[in-house]
Amino acid sequence: MEDTQTKTKYCKYCGEKIPEDAVICTKCGRQVEELKQNQPNVVINNTNTNTVQNTTAGYAGKPKNKWVALLLCFFLGILGAHKFYEGKIGMGILYLFTFGLCGIGVIIDFISLLFKPNPYYV
Ligand SMILES: [Zn+2]
Repeated sequence: MEDTQTKTKYCKYCGEKIPEDAVICTKCGRQVEELKQNQPNVVINNTNTNTVQNTTAGYAGKPKNKWVALLLCFFLGILGAHKFYEGKIGMGILYLFTFGLCGIGVIIDFISLLFKPNPYYV
């Protein structure tokens, strides 16, 4: 069967005219071409849809009463009482041993507490 439309080639084993894209000779059945291994490169798009959106989840949690913290800061600030109240134990201990960072920390905290909303969150 002569097919003039498709390109043809000749089998290197039997000489039969076979379609050019034939891998197996249609007559003798031998493999005339290497199997095409070059599949389209499947780019595994590892788009991580699990965007780690919120590592601070659970951070904006504990509401603290501004006035309690202010009073603690005012009266017991050099002992770090307001830091303990906020749950910042480390800072509280630091204040405890440094008398509220020589009072400077207490003053700064007092002022910053003044401008916090009530309740504020730590
Ligand atoms: Zn052949």
